[in-house]
Amino acid sequence: MNEASHDDLPTLPSDSGVFLALDIGGTKIAGGIVNAEGGLLKRATVPTEAAQGPDRIIASASKLARDLLQSHQRVSPIPVVALGVGSVGQIDFASGRVVLATSALPGWAGTCLKRALGTELGLPTFVENDANAAAYGEYRAGVARGYRHVVCLTLGTGIGGGVIADGQLLRGATGGAAELGHVAVELNGELCPCGRRGCLEAYSSGSALLRYANDRLESLRAGTASELAGYSSLTGAIIFDAAARGDQLAQDIVERFSRYLAAGLVSFQFAFDPECIVLGGGVSSVGELLLEGIRRALPEQDRHIRLLLASLGNDAGLIGAALLARDSL
Ligand SMILES: [Zn+2]
Repeated sequence: MNEASHDDLPTLPSDSGVFLALDIGGTKIAGGIVNAEGGLLKRATVPTEAAQGPDRIIASASKLARDLLQSHQRVSPIPVVALGVGSVGQIDFASGRVVLATSALPGWAGTCLKRALGTELGLPTFVENDANAAAYGEYRAGVARGYRHVVCLTLGTGIGGGVIADGQLLRGATGGAAELGHVAVELNGELCPCGRRGCLEAYSSGSALLRYANDRLESLRAGTASELAGYSSLTGAIIFDAAARGDQLAQDIVERFSRYLAAGLVSFQFAFDPECIVLGGGVSSVGELLLEGIRRALPEQDRHIRLLLASLGNDAGLIGAALLARDSL
């Protein structure tokens, strides 16, 4: 493994300042205090209350941030020097404005997070798409530390993507780059939540994995020999574990999931020529079983692709947002 250190890491001593971070998702808002090395010192979450609209979300995020600031200031003389925010939606990094958002956060598009949160908290504020922030976290402080060309996929309910090209986040013209979950892997395929058909997200997200299982179990009904039929509700871990124990139905499901994911990964390798591809999100908690499935599905000539499991878990977005603020100051 490449353990080379960054020669361009800012040499900020750890006692000269810490960072406030927010990660605004569809169901919860996480907040944290992160030191200059990417260590998470404090963490808290509140519900997003998406249906209440953008003003409520901003108010909840501001309160969470103020509470974290105060609890930090009670125990530490080290100043909080900037705020980093990761948020769902397409974000224009320069202005800190939400350009586009899905129905998960109604009315979120058009919100200027940099102005709203920065003014409220009186801190220099940097805003990034949440999947990009998570990729940046893994790149600066997680499993991809030391590499300069990294593709990061977050396999959760959907599929988030982030690309580091020559040490920089790839943002595109409008902040919409690296939406890797919506790369097509099948023409006229399954319907994706984005409204298009055949997206990778419709085949290799956590939701797709469960959909395969539930569809197959329904068609088999009672009497199926699969151990999956014995569960009232399935998880990715149950399916991968059953496949590893030789359950034929579970193996078929993992094979289908992995085949499409491998097709996507080969395309990403061609498009970005990364040194490694990092897999994170809920599905990656099955660990080595995920990597084994993908390796089996990869064509022989693509088995050199370096696959790594994300190491920062749910905190990647918070840590990445904080380190983006650090590196952007
Ligand atoms: Zn899509």
